[in-house]
Order: sequence, then structure tokens, then C-alpha cells
Amino acid sequence: MRRATRRTEGNERARHLLLALVALGAVGVVACGVTPPRARFVMPPREGGTPAASATPATAEAVATPLAATEVPTPPSIPDVTIVAVGDIMLARRVTTLMELQGPTYPFERVRDLLEGDVTVGNMEGAFTERGTPLVKQYTFRTPPQLASALSLAGLDAVSLANNHATDFGVPGLEDTLGALEQAGVRAFGAGLDAERAAAPVVVRAENGARVAFLGVDDIGEVLWAGIGRPGVAPANLEGVRTTVEAACTEADYVVVFAHWGAEYSAAPTARQRELARAAVEAGASLVIGAHPHVLQPVERMDGSLVVYSLGNFVFDLDGDDMRMLGEGPFQAAVARITLSRSAPPRLEVAPVRTDPTEHRPRPATPDEAAAILDQLRELPQTAPAPR
Ligand SMILES: [Zn+2]
Repeated sequence: MRRATRRTEGNERARHLLLALVALGAVGVVACGVTPPRARFVMPPREGGTPAASATPATAEAVATPLAATEVPTPPSIPDVTIVAVGDIMLARRVTTLMELQGPTYPFERVRDLLEGDVTVGNMEGAFTERGTPLVKQYTFRTPPQLASALSLAGLDAVSLANNHATDFGVPGLEDTLGALEQAGVRAFGAGLDAERAAAPVVVRAENGARVAFLGVDDIGEVLWAGIGRPGVAPANLEGVRTTVEAACTEADYVVVFAHWGAEYSAAPTARQRELARAAVEAGASLVIGAHPHVLQPVERMDGSLVVYSLGNFVFDLDGDDMRMLGEGPFQAAVARITLSRSAPPRLEVAPVRTDPTEHRPRPATPDEAAAILDQLRELPQTAPAPR
């Protein structure tokens, strides 16, 4: 959103790198207050057939082909909005050391152009604090508060704190994190000083006037849950997702749910992920974005909305040992660029990126790497709605 003068140029460059992933012919849209009958949506199964992604050559030329979402002829009165989303951002350990040596722009430097959009969002995996006591758990992540500027310098407008690391350094750590993000000009959602604030949407207004509400929910645990008068993280539950999405629809034109969920290192979404996604979509969410598995997972067109089950690691200090132990999966990532419209289904484009094991930061993927990444993001057949 910021740096408006750079945006056009940045978008142009980004468009040349973005690869079209999914071009849908389905007509219709689910958004706040617009819910067409399910029968109108035809979702050809892709899994087991030709993967949706492999139809697109993994070269920059692929972007020359316009995406062919069939549009309803009446022009929308509410403007379209482009959301740029990334997965887990972990700025602790070696990433902190590198930022202290090289400056706060270090983690995002090689992918900075890809992050330009109307609203840019990601999952902030850790606390910005020098206080607090680490929770008793295997991994705890913290970064000095002044380095929160890394996020705004990278173009991030908002981050989800609904994850299993936001309270790694207790309530003081969360308080410092909220303060550091505010100081950096980055909106935070999915955690807060009490349950109401943790569950409340952050509404970001794009320059064209479109209002986008972001909600964050965590389905993993190992956290301090927000409560009445108690700071913490917003939990994921079906009823809570429904009511918060419905409420957010009264404040915004589009609702986006950022969910922290799924099984680590699993390339397939769980039944629970699909159930939570469906609850969000049926309540009016246009887009559901997931993180936590540390690997990419497929996407799903659900009614007229889009679910991106896991965007994988975006910034993580992975190294050669991780490669030997865990393979390529955690190194594969994507910048998702989703255009939301009130008159057409969400349009998804993906820029494949890969974590460099020696630089501990993402860089654009090579064509071979990109093909493998797009295959991980192949489109699943739509989950059948639960019987009523
Ligand atoms: Zn996580």
C-alpha cells in the first residue's frame, strides 16, 4: 500500500515474474452478502488428472497469457482488490544476526518486487521483544523490536499473529510485539490484549477504497490463548470462525481469513483444515490463506471463494542440514497474488520462490524449481459441503 509512486513500476516488474496458476471458468463469487447457489459452481476435478499448475510453463513468458476468469458483465460498484500473501516469516536466530549485520531489508531483498500489491500480508512467526520468559517448548523465536521495520520496509501492510509462536515469550513478549508492529506501521491481527481484540478483524482500506478485513485463527496451540482480560492468540473453532467472518462482513467489502493449521511437513490438507475453510467460506470469506505446515499445500476453489491451504516457509533460516533431513519441501515457497472482485471468482497468480540455504532468505525460483513448486500448489477438487 505504501510507496505509491513505486507501485506501478513494481507491479509491472512483478507481473513479468508472476506465473499464472489457476484460470477458472466458474462464474460466480462468494463474498460478504453475495452467496450464489452452490449448484452454479462447476469445479472440474484436477487431482489425478492434469495438475492445474503444469498447464502453465514455468517461464516468465507464461504471464503473457491473460487469465481467463469469466466475468459477470455488470461492472462492480465495489472496486477489485489485489492481495499479496506469503507464508511463515521467521525473523529470529540467524535471520536476526544477518539483519543486524546487513540491515533490516536483508530477508526480503531478493523478492521485494514481488510483494507489491494493494494489500500485502503474511504470517509473523515469532515475537518482537527482548523481555519475557520463553514458554516451555522445543522452539521459541524472538527478534529485537526495532527490527519490526523489516516488515514495513518489505511492503507488508498487515501480519497475522494467530500462530504457535506469537506468545513464545509470554504476555510481555506479545505486548512488545504489538507495540513494535504499531511503531513499524504494520497492522496485526489474530492476537491481542484480550479475546475480543484477538478475534477482531483488522480492516485495511486499499487506495482505490476497497475495504478488506483480515482475521487470524490458530489451530495449533502451544500458545497463550486470549481470554477475558487476558492477552493471547485467537483460537480456531468452527462457530468462532463463522461468527467473526459474518461480523467482519458488516465492516468490509472482502473478508480474508489467515489460518495457522495443518500437519507439519505434510503436503496434504487435513479434514480439519477443509472443515474450517468451509466454515469461513460459507460465512462469507472470499479468501482463506494457510500457514504452519512449513511446506506448500494445494489450493481449492470452494464455492466462489479460494482456499490456499499452505504457503510454506517464506523467511526461515534453513540450511544444508535441513535440506538433508527434510528435503526440498521446506525450501519451496510462493508469493500468492490474489485479485478479489465482487463480480468474478478470485484470480490467483503465483510467484514461486525458494529459500537459499546459505543466505537464509528467499529468492525467485529457477524454472525447474518453479515447476516443482507449482505442482505442490495444484488445485484440489472441491470439498463436498457437509450434509444439512
Ligand atoms: Zn507454526
